[in-house]
Amino acid sequence: MHELSIASGIRDVVLAQAQEAGCRRVIRVTLRIGALTGVEPEALRFCFDALVQSTVAAGAILEIEPVPAQGHCAACAVTFDLGFVHDACPTCGERRWTLVSGRELAVKELEVD
Ligand SMILES: [Zn+2]
Repeated sequence: MHELSIASGIRDVVLAQAQEAGCRRVIRVTLRIGALTGVEPEALRFCFDALVQSTVAAGAILEIEPVPAQGHCAACAVTFDLGFVHDACPTCGERRWTLVSGRELAVKELEVD
């Protein structure tokens, strides 16, 4: 259960931030989730809902902002979208490109009451 451990980490972050803000209720949680994390949004919502029951985040809406997977090639200074085949830069064929985005898994913002 990949999503369960992720949801549990998100709950910890959300509850810590909510406590810091001294809020009574968390209304909405916005997450940034990269395309390479393999997270199933529906499964994540389900786990999160279950984990925050009887906390200030109970019933909070989980907004998921997808982040596309992108690579950057230093050889030709190009940033490209990673498709199904992503072992080489699509412009020059260089194999030593770096991953720019796609592995994000973070709480972007909280809407609280
Ligand atoms: Zn290149």
